[in-house]
Amino acid sequence: MSEAPVLVLNAGSSSLKYQLLVPETAEVQAKGIVERIGEPGSPVADHAAALQMMEDNLAAAGVDLDTVDLRAVGHRVVHGGPDFCDPTIIDDDVLDEIKDLIPLAPLHNPGAVSGIEAAREEFDVPHVAIFDTAFFSTLPSAAATYAIPRDLAQKYRIRRYGFHGTSHQFVSRAAAELVGRDLGELNQIVLHLGNGCSASAVRGGVAVETSMGLTPLQGLVMGTRSGDVDPGLHTFLHTELGMSIGDIDTLLNKQSGLKGMAGVNDFRELEERRAAGDEAAQLAFDVYVHRLQHYIGAYLALLGGLDVLSFTAGVGENNPALRAALADGLGGLGFHVDPELNNVRSKSARVISADSAPITIAVVPTNEELAIAREPAAILKSRSV
Ligand code: ADP
Repeated sequence: MSEAPVLVLNAGSSSLKYQLLVPETAEVQAKGIVERIGEPGSPVADHAAALQMMEDNLAAAGVDLDTVDLRAVGHRVVHGGPDFCDPTIIDDDVLDEIKDLIPLAPLHNPGAVSGIEAAREEFDVPHVAIFDTAFFSTLPSAAATYAIPRDLAQKYRIRRYGFHGTSHQFVSRAAAELVGRDLGELNQIVLHLGNGCSASAVRGGVAVETSMGLTPLQGLVMGTRSGDVDPGLHTFLHTELGMSIGDIDTLLNKQSGLKGMAGVNDFRELEERRAAGDEAAQLAFDVYVHRLQHYIGAYLALLGGLDVLSFTAGVGENNPALRAALADGLGGLGFHVDPELNNVRSKSARVISADSAPITIAVVPTNEELAIAREPAAILKSRSV
């Protein structure tokens, strides 16, 4: 029996990524992206126009949304704040609550809100919000709390939220399937290494630590983001260089990370430069690996032992040299990559550690769209029973 598809929308401030897929079979019926939404001179004035363009693109590919029996729309929402801990059916109140979170994610949530508003006008089916923060709503208070005045933190909802949660949850579940063990009995670390990078510690399927914080700037070295710096850096840059807080935000989010250290944010270009003997590229690689080792060591201690370490996203899935360098530095702790398995190129989840290694190391391709599409399907199923 062919099941009806779910439309997955990932609306940013100036782009709309879409995928039409069947959650039960993972069959992707169509996908694409509309860019330059609302930019000067762009033919796409707003998210409603972007949806229209999406429908035109789908029609050109032979997909008519009016006849595919669309089941639901799943919306990726970056920030769910302290209260959205699960995928949630969107009604007017929920939409208002997502708007209320805009101060926590000024770059991300406005696009999602516009996308949701336009899509609710267009498609008369259930709309479900899937939050990037939700998987980390289980962080213990000791992990989620910044050591700043309590009243201030509570009043302004300042805490560690974590991001990429949909990916960390998907990968930790897929890794348990890969090793053929019960999710509930596994201690796991997941490394999501793409343009944005984050690590998580997952005990029995429940997230207990993650590297991102109030915003996606904290933690690992990323393509253009610094990750962890001394918070005193802001004062230094302001008093010594006269930089405004906006300048500093741009510096740390857009001009730092691999790009800041080596001039390139794409890991493939970094590798080319490193191979050509570029010192700055080598140092950037070393800093990237060092930061990862630092987090893995911390998570190993927090978890009190580790069963599976998984690599995912663009860099994690495709860069054997990075995986090998990381494991080499941690050999004394039981991380041993098998060189042959590590060099296999594949789109499937696979183990890359030797059979005898105490910790299983795996490459587990993430699929955030599939994870998002499954949620509305699950909610609708549970409601109809
Ligand atoms: P995003 O966070 O935007 O979803 P991706 O998960 O697509 O990012 O990851 C982008 C990063 O993955 C880039 O640094 C890119 O160089 C790297 N990457 C993608 N494909 C490959 C590949 N085949 N080999 C090495 N690195 C790759």
